[in-house]
Amino acid sequence: MSLKSFFRLDLRRLILLLAFTTAAVTLVNGLYASHKVQRQLLLDQTLNNNAVYASKLAASTNNFLLSAQQQLAYAAGEISTRMDDDALLFHAAERLRLQTDSFNSVAVLDPKGMVLATSPDTLQLKGQQLVSQAVQTALEQQRPMISEPFVSAANNLLVLISHPIVDETGRYLGFIAGSIYLDQRSILNDLLGTHYYNDGSYLYVVDQQRRLLYHPDTSRAAERVNHNPVIEAVIQGQSGQQLVNNSENVPMLAGYAPIEAAGWGVVAQRPVDATLQPLNQLMRTVVDHTLPLALITLGLIWWLARLISRPLWQLADNARRMDTDCSPGRIQQIHSWYFESSQIKQAMLLGVGLLHTRMGQLKDDSRTDPLTGLQNRRSLERYLNMLELEQTPFSVLALDIDHFKRVNDSHGHDAGDEVLQEMARIMREGTRQGDMVCRTGGEEFIVILPHTDAYTANTLAERLRQEISTADIPHVGHITTSIGIAAWPEQADEPAQVLKYADKALYRAKENGRNQCLLYEADAVTTG
Ligand code: GH3
Ligand code: MG
Ligand code: MG
Repeated sequence: MSLKSFFRLDLRRLILLLAFTTAAVTLVNGLYASHKVQRQLLLDQTLNNNAVYASKLAASTNNFLLSAQQQLAYAAGEISTRMDDDALLFHAAERLRLQTDSFNSVAVLDPKGMVLATSPDTLQLKGQQLVSQAVQTALEQQRPMISEPFVSAANNLLVLISHPIVDETGRYLGFIAGSIYLDQRSILNDLLGTHYYNDGSYLYVVDQQRRLLYHPDTSRAAERVNHNPVIEAVIQGQSGQQLVNNSENVPMLAGYAPIEAAGWGVVAQRPVDATLQPLNQLMRTVVDHTLPLALITLGLIWWLARLISRPLWQLADNARRMDTDCSPGRIQQIHSWYFESSQIKQAMLLGVGLLHTRMGQLKDDSRTDPLTGLQNRRSLERYLNMLELEQTPFSVLALDIDHFKRVNDSHGHDAGDEVLQEMARIMREGTRQGDMVCRTGGEEFIVILPHTDAYTANTLAERLRQEISTADIPHVGHITTSIGIAAWPEQADEPAQVLKYADKALYRAKENGRNQCLLYEADAVTTG
């Protein structure tokens, strides 16, 4: 295949280009759309999951805090009548700590902040006055409280849940408080810390001061986080979901909900990257499922393009060589199976038919003599060339009507023409299929006899001469001819030379008295 035909724009390539482009655009568009939809789906789902999860955890933490406060309220009621009974106070504290597992430690304090009892008593705080901010606030406010996180005397980060102790007359007797450690194992840790997934998601809890009460990275406990829109929203008591950058500037899908009892907020979040991780695999699966059908479709397109373009291509190919003889046959064989191609085929067949008829006419016109219908000198030359090429031996008869001028003079030119036509008829009928009869001049004729030696040619010439001389021509009567004969390659190497020899023999026949046949003889002619 040449470079030119490789880059040629034909119908098949155009159809293929169109179909492939359409298929590719559709496929890419489909993949793009599916990618977009799946991506949004993953993001929405994760946001939603996190919001639901944050709500659930906030609710259960809230419930835990409320029930912890109830437990403290109940214990406060129990000990309010016997505040002087150290053993009872210790027992109540122990029961609270051990029975419910809510608190890391429990203490009973008098209105001055003096520790009356602790559990566990290993804290060795009994008799000491506690001065921390949380204790001071509880003593001042004299109401059920959940403190802000603070660092205790024993160096633990903790929150204090407290309930005032009031006697039946309404006198304030101090408070009972349970502590929950934030940086060690505690009920809060147990509640929140169960959330450990491998997918990069995690949760944290903040208080009103934007401090981290719980974070999987324990080193960040009590750290204050400013300028985080999610934290701002959740400490104002809002719940919801949001795309947010975390403190390391990693985009996160966050769900959040407030823990109303404490004014805290739970945030559950997952990195966007981790969320979209399955997307590539998902798209690969989509491609894997699309590809076989796409390939089958492409194959089908290719086959159809071939089928559609084939008749037109074949017609176009034939249009380039409509002048050849086998053209109509080739066009006829083209399978034009649809409207346009069959119309073009019919039109081409019609055109080729006309063309060939016209060409045949032109060919005949250029090769024949209009008066007699015999071949002319041009055909004679072509025929001689062919015989020479084929090395076919032949003989030549050169004929000339005797005293033809007289015929014209006495009977008129038209009668002369009739004589010429009659001569032609006799010569055609008197020769074989493969012989060629030409009119080369006014009343001069040449007959070529292939595969005929001089002797046989002489016999045939004699018979022709007799037939002509005996023919009775209307208005004219009888005429005679003289005939010169020569043979190739017996008498000359060049066919043209043999023609001249035949002429010379004819000339001699005229000289000898006309109405006779004469075979060319070299000696005779040179002397003649
Ligand atoms: P010769 O026996 O020597 O051949 O005598 P001739 O009269 O036949 O020879 P010449 O060559 O002198 O005359 C040929 C004549 O043929 C001259 C011309 O009038 C006539 N002739 C040539 N072509 C045509 C033609 O197409 N039609 C007619 N009717 N006559 C023609
Ligand atoms: Mg003549
Ligand atoms: Mg003559």
